[in-house]
Amino acid sequence: MLATLKADLHVHTCLSPCADDEMKPLAIVKQARRKGVDLIGICDHNSAANVAAARRAGSREGLAVLAGIEVSSEEEVHVLALFDTEEDLQEMQRLIDRNLSGENNPELFGEQHLCNEFDEIIGQDARLLIAATRLTVEEVVENIHRLRGLAIASHIDRESFSILSQLGFVPERLAIDALEVSPLCTVALARQRFPQTRDYPFVCSSDAHRLDDIGETTTTFTIAGACIEELRKALRCEDGRTTAG
Ligand SMILES: [Zn+2]
Ligand SMILES: [Zn+2]
Repeated sequence: MLATLKADLHVHTCLSPCADDEMKPLAIVKQARRKGVDLIGICDHNSAANVAAARRAGSREGLAVLAGIEVSSEEEVHVLALFDTEEDLQEMQRLIDRNLSGENNPELFGEQHLCNEFDEIIGQDARLLIAATRLTVEEVVENIHRLRGLAIASHIDRESFSILSQLGFVPERLAIDALEVSPLCTVALARQRFPQTRDYPFVCSSDAHRLDDIGETTTTFTIAGACIEELRKALRCEDGRTTAG
């Protein structure tokens, strides 16, 4: 049976150096529930280290949490990678780790807190998470698909770190599953401003870096369950599945 689910597929935790310290797993889950969100994706920059804690918090509070990461490609294009399982996400993480260099300087870039599901800080991620990987955007998308994930080009309307700001266009051969608009834009406006994107499926997400941002912009999916295959079908308008921004 199909049901409508309100999804915010792009939420950062306090692991991202640019996110507020209040963005701890349980606090995020509770805020999403308060905002009437049914499904979130945890997508920190180049690290999945807080995903397991967020999923444990989600299962306790009754919120579906997809295992995700926001990958920075070599061209500094941000791509959301969403998976059903933490095993597939960890495989993606290993690939990223082999292609990411440098150590974080917290005073310069911000803290990168590792948390448990009770919102206790249990350590710091030492990697330079804001750096670009050595993976091209094509390699990023190919590997997401190899691992059964969904690949979404982040905040295409933004003037930095988006596929349009970095490449100027969406390469035709790129098998991207959807384009995302930030809270500063709408799907209709994006299609008007960037005519090349007219035929792509779109999602709207908050790209939350603060608790107040969560659920401010969402996509409503009409699907049979909160899993990647259902989201993929909805983006392709298959079997009665649909999306609305
Ligand atoms: Zn981004
Ligand atoms: Zn982001």
